[in-house]
Amino acid sequence: MALGIDVGGTKILGIKYIDGKILREWNFKTVDGEVKCILQKIMKESGEEVIGIGAPCYIRDGVCIKAPHIRELTGKKLDEIGNAKFMNDCTAMAYGEYHLRGEKHDPLLLIALGTGVGSGLIIQGKPYIGKGSAMEIGHIKIYSDRRCECGKIGCFETITGGKYLNTEKMYMRVREGDEKALKFFENYGKILARGIAPAIQLLDPEIVVIGGSISQAYDYFMPPLIEELEKLLSYITPDDIIFERAKSPKSGAIGAALIAERDLL
Ligand SMILES: [Zn+2]
Repeated sequence: MALGIDVGGTKILGIKYIDGKILREWNFKTVDGEVKCILQKIMKESGEEVIGIGAPCYIRDGVCIKAPHIRELTGKKLDEIGNAKFMNDCTAMAYGEYHLRGEKHDPLLLIALGTGVGSGLIIQGKPYIGKGSAMEIGHIKIYSDRRCECGKIGCFETITGGKYLNTEKMYMRVREGDEKALKFFENYGKILARGIAPAIQLLDPEIVVIGGSISQAYDYFMPPLIEELEKLLSYITPDDIIFERAKSPKSGAIGAALIAERDLL
């Protein structure tokens, strides 16, 4: 049994997870300045000793180098928060999605389309993080002159992240059949393909899972995305890849619990 916590930009979810079952759940709103207290409260209440925490931050040598959406964590030594295994939220989500699919699709590439854009990779049954900051697909520089939160210009997430686009409003309109919104998601799929294609070309994944809040519009942007991948990939065809939406909004917390329990990082 382990406790898994997913720290999101808007909410914090904690779960006690054992043998495929959630025994107990905690839900909090994310309030910058109170995250440490919330995490410690959940950890204490759970009584668990094996704890995994996924957070939207870049971690190196146990320090959160930067958490663009939760300033409180930036620069923090994570063991000051508690005795837990900290990891990037997309890494946790990728492992949770891998687990929820029976741990059989490998490599699994997760793309998380939220406020920013992140990704996670499961390869040979384990999460891959490089020296700690791998898979930051959102910060690959790609045809944009916008400045990103990381300080550099032209990052992929400046043209695909919810922070820079009005995806929520467009999603409401596209469901009503609005032509402009349909065009918006068609274009969105094509732009996404330009960022995802290099990752697919390098990693040759068996499955690509699309998660994050923008994935609610999956049905609208995926057909143009796959069509565009056809043009952008060599020796790999999209037909040989499984594309799916994330299975659960709890996969980040599930993955964090399992990564801690199995000591995978
Ligand atoms: Zn960036």
